[in-house]
Amino acid sequence: MATLRDQRRSVVLVPYPYQGHITPMLQLGQILHSGGFSVIVAHTKFNSPNPLNHPEFFFLPLKDNLSGFDTSFGNTLAVIRAINENCRAPLQGSLAQMMKDQEKHGQVCCIIHDAIMHFGRSVANHLNISSLVLGTCSALYMQVYPSILQLQSEHYFPLQDSKMLEPVPGLGTLRFKDFAIPANIEIPQPLLKFYEDTSNLGSSVGIILNTTEELDPMSLSQLKQYYKVPLFTIGPFHKMAPTSSSSSFLKEDRSCMAWLDKQAPQSVLYLSLGSLASIEAKELEETAWGLANSGQPFLWVVRPSSVNGSEWIEQLPKGFKDAVGERGHIVQWAPQKEVLAHSAVGGFFSHCGWNSILESLCEAVPMICRPCFADQLANARYLTHVWKVGLELEVVEDRGVIERAIRRLMVENEGKEMRQRAADMKQKLDISTNKGGSSHKSLSDLIDFINSFAR
Ligand code: UDP
Repeated sequence: MATLRDQRRSVVLVPYPYQGHITPMLQLGQILHSGGFSVIVAHTKFNSPNPLNHPEFFFLPLKDNLSGFDTSFGNTLAVIRAINENCRAPLQGSLAQMMKDQEKHGQVCCIIHDAIMHFGRSVANHLNISSLVLGTCSALYMQVYPSILQLQSEHYFPLQDSKMLEPVPGLGTLRFKDFAIPANIEIPQPLLKFYEDTSNLGSSVGIILNTTEELDPMSLSQLKQYYKVPLFTIGPFHKMAPTSSSSSFLKEDRSCMAWLDKQAPQSVLYLSLGSLASIEAKELEETAWGLANSGQPFLWVVRPSSVNGSEWIEQLPKGFKDAVGERGHIVQWAPQKEVLAHSAVGGFFSHCGWNSILESLCEAVPMICRPCFADQLANARYLTHVWKVGLELEVVEDRGVIERAIRRLMVENEGKEMRQRAADMKQKLDISTNKGGSSHKSLSDLIDFINSFAR
């Protein structure tokens, strides 16, 4: 683990402790470390990152009082509230001590917190240092919470069924359905409070986004107008980070790489629903038969406990394994970035988490979109209707629909056209992350900005 004796200026990172948030925060840490800063990762004990994967960082565990707390998916809002309340004082105390002890620790110059971890901002205010917000979602989705709050004040909710497919004012191609808020319900108060807390920047001096100017200039320009603070688009982070160390909570099963080596170019469909989504046993069964009947090779990530009522894949239908034989490979967790970069992979059946999308676009892999919750619906809408590099799975518990979608993506002309568009996007992303590209320029602006904070 790093010590802070090297007297570089330090940035303090406060990640939200879930895979899709901690990964980009640690990537940002690597980017800033290679930009000349010491990096302090202030993290909960719950879902703590592994310091051994990042010897260049200084890790600061925060007492979160979450042991014994219900941290199940259904209780997420309560977990968020608890972390924000419980970690504030420990972070403040530790940083105050470090700031007194500057000789030893170097100068702490700012806090960068996940948008959900807003206690980072109040600690920064208290210690009289600057804070920046990291948005780990798309530029489009950064606008969704303010939009919902605005519409709530105009009494749009509860939404009637007939409204769900209408476009949301000001959000381009997004429909009300893509908010992932069911029809005919009032938005619960704790959810509204979460939207407020997460989208209110308070005294933050800037926003960092894991995206690039080229991906969605329209949303970025709207965001700039709305938030009126500097916006730094320095993504995709995994391409900007100097090394690609793993931050996976689950052990990566690398057996799939040797299996991929044996497959024909662009023949394999890779399936993963990310780190949190779960499905019903019926969907597992229908997906299995859709894959078997498609005739296409596939690499399928099924996380332990991600099928309701199962430990793992015991509910796969009888006869499935014999039907697919060596044509299919199932793992609990894959080295996803490497998988997507493998020449055998030709399509990604995804829940449309933002990291997965960036990782797929950077390798020119088109997608079948099976969004589950939160930003995934809006992301899927963009993939299918704006970038046109994905097709939407309209029904998830129907083997025929799944088989058809696989063929459309993997063998038909429609899929070829999507692959071509994905290749064009990859080219743009490569340009933006290469020297002289927009993400590079934005990073150099960010480094200057942080360096401009009072010494
Ligand atoms: N991931 C992985 N192996 C897997 C499945 C997912 O390494 O088998 C990684 C993936 O590369 C991505 C992250 O987990 O970086 C998932 O983040 P995303 O935003 O896509 O979805 P979330 O898990 O937050 O729903």
